[in-house]
Amino acid sequence: MRLVSVTTEPLAIPLLDPFVIATARVDHTTSVRVDVVVEHEGQPFRGRGEAAALHPVTHEHVDEIATSVQEVAPALLGRALDRDLTLLAGVLADRPVARAGLEQALLDAVACAQGVPVHALLAPGSRRMPLVTDVTLPILPVERMVALAVGHRAAGFTAFKVKVGKDEDHDRAALAAIARAVPDARFRLDANAALSAEQALALLRDLRGLTLECFEQPCARDDLDGMAHVTAEGGVPVIADESVRDLADLERIVERRAAHGVNLKRVKSGGMLPALAIGRAARAAGLTVMVGAMVETWLGLYGMAHVAVALGGADFVDLDTAFLLAEPTFAAHHGPTLELPDLPGLGLVDG
Ligand SMILES: [Mg+2]
Repeated sequence: MRLVSVTTEPLAIPLLDPFVIATARVDHTTSVRVDVVVEHEGQPFRGRGEAAALHPVTHEHVDEIATSVQEVAPALLGRALDRDLTLLAGVLADRPVARAGLEQALLDAVACAQGVPVHALLAPGSRRMPLVTDVTLPILPVERMVALAVGHRAAGFTAFKVKVGKDEDHDRAALAAIARAVPDARFRLDANAALSAEQALALLRDLRGLTLECFEQPCARDDLDGMAHVTAEGGVPVIADESVRDLADLERIVERRAAHGVNLKRVKSGGMLPALAIGRAARAAGLTVMVGAMVETWLGLYGMAHVAVALGGADFVDLDTAFLLAEPTFAAHHGPTLELPDLPGLGLVDG
């Protein structure tokens, strides 16, 4: 099996509402699609990957992703491919978003050539299972957040990932209004690193009475004292996202007891294989696991869904951003239950 071609194109799909979090705002996906062709026993097999940037959550800007991939592609063409993707060793090590797009496309193509789904390539013997995702409410006017929540509830969603940390008075008002409109709502807060431990704990005190499932990244990436304080005192599971990009980050979180769990994402860790390794290490250390994404189409979300299946499931599934897009992309799903099709590769049906 050898790599024949690598191409890139922008993937800018408009969003229904601006995606506003404590540290960023986007109105369309800021991704690059990576396509590869692999030749195996004289037959071509194509693979696709999504490299989703979300600056400053990712260091990389979308406008540098395609260049990063194209710079390394010539040295990879014609090289032999195996299921561990050894040809990517050391490649794009400081460009995790670009690397994740290329890695996903290669895994898709190799899995197609071998006639197996990607999760079976990642973890032989792994079996498909339904994944039940939450749905994200960005920071928007309270009445819009309520209307979105009511609409998502009608579509079957009961877990809401609510972005907080830009204005805590707004957060309190929005969460109270959503809880009134959707009485059986379960909430997962995500401050995207914006709060001090004291602010996070004050917010949690005011939200007693709501069903809170977890609080993701209350404090800054390197504020592990703050993260540990919220973990010890908050009364709700804390999930590290921005604080964990690699295994060394995970070790620090475990040592400092700075979270109960970790959010795995392809693009912050350089791909599905590194994300899977972090997930396995987190499990071994007794941490819970969330599978997540940036603002991605089904192409990128399917990549993480395969990682979740390879892990044997996840405690929290946050693979929802395709529901926030104004156009259907790569697959059709309705409601919170995502089941990968029984097809080789990623299993995407169109695009
Ligand atoms: Mg997050």
